[in-house]
Amino acid sequence: MIEVTKDGRTKRTGKDYTEFRLALYKLQSARCFQCGRWTFLLHPIEWDDSFHVDHADGRGIGGSKRDDTFRACHGLCGKCHRIKHHQQMPETSKKDLEKKP
Ligand SMILES: [Zn+2]
Repeated sequence: MIEVTKDGRTKRTGKDYTEFRLALYKLQSARCFQCGRWTFLLHPIEWDDSFHVDHADGRGIGGSKRDDTFRACHGLCGKCHRIKHHQQMPETSKKDLEKKP
């Protein structure tokens, strides 16, 4: 489902989020935006070469400001995503990891 919030952000859930992730992956030719390594959509998220959607402006409490658009998101490998969140907000990143299926 795709939802547009009052402040103009796009939120995708379920199948639409999965499709968005796949489109972002293709857009970046399967490479990590940060370090350029090859990533794999189906690898477990704790692996260094898994593919993660990183929300550039998602710094609100619990990622409440997230905007699921190509403009606001970059695809990162597991390693870069982990490093980024450990630097910025270790508590939220822990919660995010638990939420993922
Ligand atoms: Zn990377």
